[in-house]
Amino acid sequence: MDVLIVEDDDAMAGALTAAVESAGHHPKRLSRGADALLSHRNFQVVLLDLGLPDMDGLEVLRKLRQVTDVPILILTARDDERSVVLGLRSGADDYLVKPVKLVELLARIEAVTRRAGRARGLPQEDVIVLGDLSIDLNRRTASRAGALLPLTATEFELLALLARHAGSVVTREQILDALWGDAFLASSRSLDVHLTGLRAKLQKPGFIINVRGVGYRVEAASA
Ligand code: CA
Repeated sequence: MDVLIVEDDDAMAGALTAAVESAGHHPKRLSRGADALLSHRNFQVVLLDLGLPDMDGLEVLRKLRQVTDVPILILTARDDERSVVLGLRSGADDYLVKPVKLVELLARIEAVTRRAGRARGLPQEDVIVLGDLSIDLNRRTASRAGALLPLTATEFELLALLARHAGSVVTREQILDALWGDAFLASSRSLDVHLTGLRAKLQKPGFIINVRGVGYRVEAASA
């Protein structure tokens, strides 16, 4: 797998490169955001530092998302909750806190790329309709009353998962497992942010019901 590492810190970049290589992948390291925007093609996953010398990593992320759905993992300093939330809302698939644990890094890379591959290989043409909400599993779009919802890839998957199980509860573990490949490796915080983003865009209060201590549910006959 070709891994693009966008990181200006030489020591951090060296550690990431070595880790990615040790797992049999092919890393390419860039230091500048502008260079990442020019050469993101031909990579199966992007590791993106948020503190870059020439431009804000979040800006790089937003620009990448306009042109590619390649899995992007953001790398952030400890305790930078605001950047994590902004990053996930801007379309990052997941995040890693520095100093990055190498085992965790590799597991996250596997999880997001497996998820992306599965999404691309989806052979269904199904459209799920729940009230005024229409979810096209083939085109990976959702619309409400005919208007397309500007969901991120992860928000769409979350909605599609809940919709496929409409009427029954989907546990947090099932969601983490389905979206990130492993309930124990996935970051629970990522799920909360994506869920908040999805709810804000749906503008349907009460549509996604919290089932206390268990998970989430949407009603089959929801209007
Ligand atoms: Ca940096």
